[in-house]
Amino acid sequence: MKTLAGYLKASWQTELRQIELPETPPPGEVLLRVEACGICGTDLSAAVKAEKWQPFGHEIAGVIEKVGEGLGHLSPGQKVVLETSSFCGHCAMCRNGRVNLCNKAPQFWGRPAMGFSEHMVAPGCCVVPYEGLSAEVASLAEPAGVAYDMVKTANVAFGDRVALIGPGPIGLMAIPILLRGGAREVVCLGRSRNKLRLEVAQKLGAKIRIVEGSPAGEKDLQRQFEHVLVTAPVGTIPSALGLLAYGGELTYIGIGTEAGPISFDANEFHFRKLQLRASFASPALYFPIVLDLLRANVIPGDLIISHRFSLKDLAEAMHLNRDRKEEAVKVVMRNP
Ligand SMILES: [Zn+2]
Ligand SMILES: [Zn+2]
Repeated sequence: MKTLAGYLKASWQTELRQIELPETPPPGEVLLRVEACGICGTDLSAAVKAEKWQPFGHEIAGVIEKVGEGLGHLSPGQKVVLETSSFCGHCAMCRNGRVNLCNKAPQFWGRPAMGFSEHMVAPGCCVVPYEGLSAEVASLAEPAGVAYDMVKTANVAFGDRVALIGPGPIGLMAIPILLRGGAREVVCLGRSRNKLRLEVAQKLGAKIRIVEGSPAGEKDLQRQFEHVLVTAPVGTIPSALGLLAYGGELTYIGIGTEAGPISFDANEFHFRKLQLRASFASPALYFPIVLDLLRANVIPGDLIISHRFSLKDLAEAMHLNRDRKEEAVKVVMRNP
């Protein structure tokens, strides 16, 4: 069968290609009709860096059209979201109960059609059925799972104070998870150009602080937080460490276009018993719980989604993220 699939290349070029997919998915895989797919920061960094044309889109909700052999638990017509990667269930890591460290399961990355397409084929292991949500909101399960992984990695305890640097969709979706998990307060730091996102942070229950320079300039916030979560460029980490109270923990997530070495005072790190952690939601876990949080409106999907577009307007939607970022929170494609 033929399908339209979105491809991306630096700098900010996109095209829709007519590609061929099998009529019947291979064993262990499903053929989906894609209903919704969100644009992610990863796509924006690929738009800047990708030297070759590549298919893209990984925050996917769709409907199963055909099921390959060996997937008796799935059936045509089911609404599903896709884990961006899964655990295999067979390797030593999996069998030792450390499924979060397994990257051996098949994935859909690099397939000729990914999320910005009409149809795609995906491994059955990454398919998670859902009900009771619009496809657009369901497509938030992937970034919400990333936010959930970050909060789990940070291991925030009841009564902790949390500073969150970077009010992007992942940071924003972390706010209700943190507050429901017992954080005493969440202070969200962001630039004035991110006014819209900071307003969303406030609606989600965070206190907000506009910071144009480095967090080091915010004298009253120094050494005030048990946790600092950084979803901003990696260069923020050294000054963000100053926000940590004695024994505090900084958790970082991000693929920066400006990633590179950072340096900070190791004596201060040592004598103040600070901790530094990375969250990387691969394999993508926790979809059932974040789908519940979206359904219960604990994570209000309609507050996170600022723009909807159709596949034919993919280029325009990408350019919105480049040129008018301050007007956008999460931009989601909806296929008719
Ligand atoms: Zn993503
Ligand atoms: Zn495994």
